[in-house]
Amino acid sequence: MFDKKSYTLYKFHKQLNQSFQNKRELLECALPALRNLFKLDRVYFFDWQQERALLSLKMMCKKEYCMDMQEDISVLNEPVFLKQLLQNGIAESTDLSYPAIYVLVKWERPSVELKSGEVHNFMQEKVGVLRLERFRKNRVFSEQEKELIKALGEEISHNLRNTEIDQAKNQRLNISTALNDLSTIFASSLRLNDGLELILKGVQKYFRFDRVRLYLTDSEGSKIKSVLGVDISGKVTQQDGKTLPAGEENLLKEVFDSMATYRANRSVIYIPLKVQRNKVGFLAFDNILSRRRIGYMDFISLQQFASQMALSIDNARLFERVQELSNYDELTKLPVRRYFNEKFAEEIYRSKRFDLTMSLIIMDIDWFKQINDGYGHQIGDWALKEVSRVIRTSLRQTDVPCRFGGDEMVIMLPRTNGEEAKIIAKRLKDRIGAITLPERYTEGKEVHLSISQGISSFPFDGQTPDVLLEKADKALYVVKQNGRGSFAVYREVADQVVS
Ligand code: GH3
Ligand code: MG
Repeated sequence: MFDKKSYTLYKFHKQLNQSFQNKRELLECALPALRNLFKLDRVYFFDWQQERALLSLKMMCKKEYCMDMQEDISVLNEPVFLKQLLQNGIAESTDLSYPAIYVLVKWERPSVELKSGEVHNFMQEKVGVLRLERFRKNRVFSEQEKELIKALGEEISHNLRNTEIDQAKNQRLNISTALNDLSTIFASSLRLNDGLELILKGVQKYFRFDRVRLYLTDSEGSKIKSVLGVDISGKVTQQDGKTLPAGEENLLKEVFDSMATYRANRSVIYIPLKVQRNKVGFLAFDNILSRRRIGYMDFISLQQFASQMALSIDNARLFERVQELSNYDELTKLPVRRYFNEKFAEEIYRSKRFDLTMSLIIMDIDWFKQINDGYGHQIGDWALKEVSRVIRTSLRQTDVPCRFGGDEMVIMLPRTNGEEAKIIAKRLKDRIGAITLPERYTEGKEVHLSISQGISSFPFDGQTPDVLLEKADKALYVVKQNGRGSFAVYREVADQVVS
């Protein structure tokens, strides 16, 4: 005999036998199917919030379409109906003037929680309720129909579970792909700022935030130094910590004190960035414009991501510091040759482009070997430090001095012609000449330092770094030949240069 129940079940099963992206999509398929099978006027789906004894309406289906709904219905005052529903999985409405049936739908959903900093995965029990309505009084639900409806409710439960599992899997896959991509981007970007910009854009894209901002602290972790942000249009902004609007200045303290906890229904979250106990900064994610809630799963992933990011930033900062240190000579604290060469090339390019003059001084300490030999290497070191101190304090901000090697220093003077360079050379000669070696090392003798300097100028003496260096060196040689302690501009002594 033809079994109507089995056939209905089979038909329903066939309709739901597809993969859904999420619960909503599944319900959009299941509710109309129920409506058709039982010739219903309306079908509703509620989430059952046990702790608040609320049925919160999510979706309603009438005629050919489904609607998202948001409405909470308290069932606190209906213990009989509730008891029946929870016990039997099905209950008839008691307060409507037309036939309506409630069916319980139970499923499990993969969830995560943080327990003492560790991520725990678990299956969360979820309960939903279907309400099936017929508007005509005489169209009551038969016992057979009720049985069938219960069975279909179970089918929906089963599908909800699978859908939620698939969804969680996809979400995790997305997140881990995102984190992977982002780490790769970060590792491959040469400069910290470039990397950060890419990362923020990436996070915004993957997690679909309106805005993402990164607040970085100073080296002590006590003040916000800079803010890098990506807004909803993808525009990147960079801001100095000093110009932060009132209120934002205090964020650092607040974030580290209290705000790193997840609060449901929040459209802004702050996540601290720290390496061990050092504060690196914090991240702010918001959906203020779109008013989308930030999900718990996202919050957890972002926390994991933040710890990676904090480490990378810390490493990058260390790297920058090391690089900065390696630009300077240990003994004299003057820039080293490599750094100087870069700046020199840039400056020549600029001078050419804007038709500016510039000069170069090469300086060498006179009879330095004798100082070393006569009073010891340590005094030699002391003298080098003093000379460098005088150089540093005698120049403009834009001048670039450098320890070229041994007792030889080079100074680049942007926007300075030969005559002006001579004034500086004179100043250096006088000031360095005034340095006396500590008398306790010189047996009471007053020993002064002396320097010789050669000067070349752009564009008259040369147009490339090499030529300018060579000319200044030749001028220096002439000064040394002529007895030392003085300075000369190349073009003025060119006739004395032996090539
Ligand atoms: P001149 O007037 O011709 O320049 O004679 P000089 O004795 O200064 O000769 P030169 O410039 O060729 O010698 C440089 C000396 O500087 C040789 C080297 O021992 C010494 N020197 C180089 N680097 C250092 C350093 O870091 N510390 C000390 N104490 N001496 C150094
Ligand atoms: Mg020397």
